[in-house]
Amino acid sequence: MADVAYVNGAFMPLSEARVSVEDRGFQFGDGVYELLRVYDGRPFRPVEHLARLERSAAALGISLPYPRERWLALIDEAVARSGYAEGKVYIQVTRGAAPRDHAVGGPLSPTIVLTVRAYTPGEAALYTAGVDVVTVPDIRWGRCDIKSVCLLANVLAKQQARDAGAFEALFVRDGWVLEGATSNVMVVKDRRVLTPPEGPYLLSGITRQVTLAVAQKADIPVSELPLREADLYAADEVFLTGTTIEVLPVARVDGRRIGGGAPGPVTRSLMARFGESRA
Ligand code: PMP
Repeated sequence: MADVAYVNGAFMPLSEARVSVEDRGFQFGDGVYELLRVYDGRPFRPVEHLARLERSAAALGISLPYPRERWLALIDEAVARSGYAEGKVYIQVTRGAAPRDHAVGGPLSPTIVLTVRAYTPGEAALYTAGVDVVTVPDIRWGRCDIKSVCLLANVLAKQQARDAGAFEALFVRDGWVLEGATSNVMVVKDRRVLTPPEGPYLLSGITRQVTLAVAQKADIPVSELPLREADLYAADEVFLTGTTIEVLPVARVDGRRIGGGAPGPVTRSLMARFGESRA
């Protein structure tokens, strides 16, 4: 078993993978990405991830060089080469390499990078006790629905959370709670699951979609509506969703205990059902 990389048509050990210093991903953050989980040797929801990659690339005018079937085959081959049963597939497509100039100029050959690494599970205690989150002002741009590699505001927010001893930072814009630095957020109020609607200020998470579908199937009512910061504090339960964390309970927001301060019944039910949904 080994970390593998695929760069512009060739497979190699991850440690040997290289791209140009003139790559616009490196120079400008001019690229898009996806991260998907491998469970028991099988990629989880690859079609949904590729559809989002296509949307992100199209929004930036980057043309993906491969049709979806080729991506699917590439993911399968990379996972097989890695030998990892529990893994993470990272895909990055940048606009390509060119002498540094903000303006794009002529068409470039996109740089394709795909890597597979082992998945290391988060500490079990995070799931049994719940995590701390902090709220931070949202200083990101107006197209957070594009999964771009320009992640500076997310990087700073995540570090702010770490420095505060918290797991995640939740972005708040004009009093509206949007999402985490690397996750979507949901609250439970009176046994109803509430989460901010899709729009330009948040990423439409694949785990968010799966979790909402799983809830509906279990007859747990869900509503996509804007949430204020006060809705977080007054929630019965709060949880995060994301590819690597799945459904993760939140115990405290800005140091204030949520509900009983331990994972609530709806969150626990969704954690279990999410696990079953990928079996
Ligand atoms: N929002 C942001 C900003 C993220 O980085 C992520 C993780 N990619 C998510 C939400 C969750 O998305 P997904 O469930 O597709 O991992």
